[in-house]
Amino acid sequence: MNPEGLLFDLDGVLYVEGRPVPGAIDVMTQVVNRAVPFRYITNTSTRSLTTLERQLRQRGLPVPNDSVFSAISAAVQWLESHSVKRIYPVLAEDACRDFGHFIVDDEQPEAIVLGDIGEDWNYALLNRLFGFLINGAQLVAVHRNRYWQTEKGLQPDLGLFVAGLEYAAGVEAVVVGKPASEFFHSACLGLGLEPQRVVLVGDDIESDIGGAQQAGLTGVLVHTGKYRRDFVAASGIVPDCEMNSVADLPDLLPKLFGH
Ligand SMILES: [Mg+2]
Repeated sequence: MNPEGLLFDLDGVLYVEGRPVPGAIDVMTQVVNRAVPFRYITNTSTRSLTTLERQLRQRGLPVPNDSVFSAISAAVQWLESHSVKRIYPVLAEDACRDFGHFIVDDEQPEAIVLGDIGEDWNYALLNRLFGFLINGAQLVAVHRNRYWQTEKGLQPDLGLFVAGLEYAAGVEAVVVGKPASEFFHSACLGLGLEPQRVVLVGDDIESDIGGAQQAGLTGVLVHTGKYRRDFVAASGIVPDCEMNSVADLPDLLPKLFGH
């Protein structure tokens, strides 16, 4: 493994339940000090880029300019590149801030932008979205993760609603976050590196490792966050490498970390 750049998933890799993983801040400080090209990447869709950057700094992580690439960033890129003007956002209020240059249309939107809204899901909303979809709106989902790790254990994630809407309306969602290859390619493009030269560090065997490998990157799985040994076995995906936590990265990549 001889990479030139790194992508770090956030939740479950650098912090769990808002608390930094032991050694994570030190590793990221080394990455920044050694000028290793990197991006923080995340499917988190509840926060605008500005809020995300502020929270990372509050957690003690170094955040150089343009070092965060989120599923929200990817959704904005997708809408712009497809000349979509009128959207119906299903997003947390803060995330909506990144879509300020689009027109919100609650009658005939060109696209629905679907992100995490926690417990705000209800039948009336699903029914409204179903109506938009059968009238031709595009379904743009920031991700379709099956589940996520909370302090109460694993809980179903946005994928539950994406799959339900696809099934009911007979449509296929565009997924702009992980594991979409375009997501990883955009992040690598931002680094100015070919995917083959980039290592992804993640805790989700499907969205992180599977997606990264599909896009041509090397996938390193950490045993923190949502990692479960049996999920890995059931996925059929074989990580290029595994480590207990991100703190072990300097041992794995001595060339980048100058050992
Ligand atoms: Mg994660």
